[in-house]
Amino acid sequence: MEGLRLDIVTPDSVVVSTDVDYVGACGIDGQFGLMPQHAPLVSALKIGEVYYRRGSSTTWVFVSGGFAQITDNKVTILVESAELADNIDVERAERAKHRAEERLTHPSADVDVPRAQLALSRAIARISVARR
Ligand code: ATP
Repeated sequence: MEGLRLDIVTPDSVVVSTDVDYVGACGIDGQFGLMPQHAPLVSALKIGEVYYRRGSSTTWVFVSGGFAQITDNKVTILVESAELADNIDVERAERAKHRAEERLTHPSADVDVPRAQLALSRAIARISVARR
């Protein structure tokens, strides 16, 4: 059976470019799964994880800030940041989480609260993907 081609691309690099059987992602309207022959679709993505299956192997990727598109069995995920679970620096994410929590717990006049909330979400999602 024909499979899917998956590309996960950031402004800096192509993080994933591979043939897969299935892609799962968190859209802003909920989780969705993509299999071969899926109808064309574009969805904005939540900060969180994308995973893909090839045979019996599953791979998790942290993503933030972008969208997924499928057309003609080709899935393109264009995001600001993406890291394979093995490439996540957990200590860095822990530091980012701590910084964001401090800003949100003690918000001074110069704290951009929505920005700190987004940073916290990215840090929590990175830690969660790295533990997969
Ligand atoms: P930080 O405050 O640690 O920079 P951030 O959430 O603000 O975290 P991003 O703006 O999402 O960082 O990403 C900036 C760049 O750094 C991207 O290339 C991203 O892939 C990389 N990056 C950020 N945090 C990590 C991490 N914990 N492990 C690996 N790469 C990371």
